[in-house]
Amino acid sequence: MFGMDIGIDLGTANILVYIKGRGIVLREPSVVAINRDNGKVIEVGEEARKMIGKVPANIEVIRPLREGVISNFSATEKMLKYFINKVVERKSFFLKPRIAVCVPSGVTEVEKRAVKDAAMQVGARLVAIIEEPIAAAIGAGIDITKARGSMVIDIGGGTSDVAVISLGGIVVSNSIKVAGDVFDDAIVKYIRKKYNLLIGERSAERVKIEIGTADEKYEDNIMKISGRNLVSGLPKEVEITSREIKEALYESVSAVAESVHAAFEKTPPELASDISDRGVVMTGGGSLLHGLDKLIEKRTGIKVIIAEDTLSCVALGTGKYVEICDWSKV
Ligand code: ADP
Ligand code: MG
Repeated sequence: MFGMDIGIDLGTANILVYIKGRGIVLREPSVVAINRDNGKVIEVGEEARKMIGKVPANIEVIRPLREGVISNFSATEKMLKYFINKVVERKSFFLKPRIAVCVPSGVTEVEKRAVKDAAMQVGARLVAIIEEPIAAAIGAGIDITKARGSMVIDIGGGTSDVAVISLGGIVVSNSIKVAGDVFDDAIVKYIRKKYNLLIGERSAERVKIEIGTADEKYEDNIMKISGRNLVSGLPKEVEITSREIKEALYESVSAVAESVHAAFEKTPPELASDISDRGVVMTGGGSLLHGLDKLIEKRTGIKVIIAEDTLSCVALGTGKYVEICDWSKV
């Protein structure tokens, strides 16, 4: 009788599409490669991501949602349409789908409207825009409808968002533009300063994932990294250790922990006590940075739990939201 219900996590680093009854059907980096001469899309998603830092002058590789805001609307729209068309068969549009889209927290009303329009244009019957912390909490398995405080920390590519939720709504929230991308950038800067070596953002991300840590206690792993020597101008390779990456990340991970602390300061006492009983739940790819949970525990004294399938929480929550959403109000 009804068409499909679709949930989309329009993240700054990754876009995920969930279809009710089928689960997550698409997971791609939020990247678009565009031909500068005619504005046409060349590649989208993983194929476009592979081009980062490697394209000739006539191609532009864009991450249209960088920093938690839609910095390039037309590219965002093209990307969204491309992915929706990819996963939803044409014949399904006979019974138009209902789509819930979760956008980064910094997005303005105008941008929300624009995302809604883009989803309508590809054939949605109804489009709801969801607040990210709500989706993250539902996806992490938290029953948000209870009169009980829950805290969710979502660390993505562009922003780290902390929210206290009770009775289905956000009571306190904090968002900072310090997350995965800033971690990568801090590594680039550190290596440039210490070794006069310029590395690309994708190399920095690999270093972060493989040997990065935020914890005092860590295994000192070593990784070879190559880039361009800024003195000689020639390619060069150096060995980097976890200790160095921990140092490089110190300031940014401290900012994340500080933001959690600040959220607690704004939280009403009853809710704070619920949270301290049950712990804080962390979602998003950035929560996988080794030792970040330990660091936040140490700075706040509250237990931190990394959600299961943390990279998918927002998409799963957005998908489930479609079912409980009051569509007469969107
Ligand atoms: P967004 O919601 O903004 O799209 P995601 O939740 O998909 O972001 O997380 C992407 C971020 O998570 C990237 O910055 C990526 O480098 C980081 N990330 C993914 N896996 C790991 C890992 N194992 N360790 C540290 N960071 C990670
Ligand atoms: Mg996200």
